[in-house]
Amino acid sequence: MKQVRAKKNLGQHFLNDQNIAIKIVDSLMCQSPKSVLEIGPGMGVLTKYLLNYPEVNLKLIEIDGESVEYLNGTYPALSGKVHFGDFLKIDINELFTDDFTVIGNFPYNISSQIFFKVLDYKDRIPSVVGMIQKEVAERLASPHGSKAYGILSVLLQTFYDIEYLFTVNEGVFIPPPKVKSAVIRLTRNQRTDIGCSWSLYKEIIKQAFNQRRKTMRNSLKSIIVPLGFDHEWMNRRPEQMSVEDFIELACIISKLREEKLE
Ligand code: SAH
Repeated sequence: MKQVRAKKNLGQHFLNDQNIAIKIVDSLMCQSPKSVLEIGPGMGVLTKYLLNYPEVNLKLIEIDGESVEYLNGTYPALSGKVHFGDFLKIDINELFTDDFTVIGNFPYNISSQIFFKVLDYKDRIPSVVGMIQKEVAERLASPHGSKAYGILSVLLQTFYDIEYLFTVNEGVFIPPPKVKSAVIRLTRNQRTDIGCSWSLYKEIIKQAFNQRRKTMRNSLKSIIVPLGFDHEWMNRRPEQMSVEDFIELACIISKLREEKLE
């Protein structure tokens, strides 16, 4: 069977280490998920091990036609499971009607967008195991108080517990990427919602981190001044705010805005 030639613009770096593939698959399968979506299966290095769990409702989404052809030709058990398309564009309801977990060696150029889409479906995605750039993995898993903590860390940690599982070196991929990689696991926490507008919450977090060296008072000026709001939080830099602090802040701002309209 002819191999698939890696296409850079699709973020293709094929994992070439079976032990790491097994470790990644185990990191999800130890939770005994009923349904699994693999994003970007490529030549199937993870898929092959996912097929050891025939009881699982497995679906794959792959944007590269050559990879789709390769997978269908190599693994007859995948019949009807491989969707040719873009994960960022697909209507998830075409793949699953119920909850599903996510796995993949993600294309690094779109890993943030993948996580934003996961957030859109947070109530249907109990867990995610993904390989991404090491630096991004560290950022997502960082607690508040650390330099790496940023917008996507806060947003994801609002609804997921995030574990940095292990680091993966460049040399185990074909072709090797320029940076190191890491595998992280997201597990849905108990929070059902934040109690006020998600879009206001996002706006506050984005604005606060936009100038991360400034105090919150400075970055959030346009939001807090019209409301006459001040608080000890405003002396902080955004990375010193916990998820709970940001939620509380967004809900206070939301209330003040409503009162102002009355
Ligand atoms: N899982 C394979 C391939 C990882 S490379 C391995 O570990 O070897 C990333 C894969 O994601 C490639 O196969 C690429 O074609 C695919 N891909 C890139 N963008 C995508 C998108 N938007 N939707 C679905 N798949 C995508």
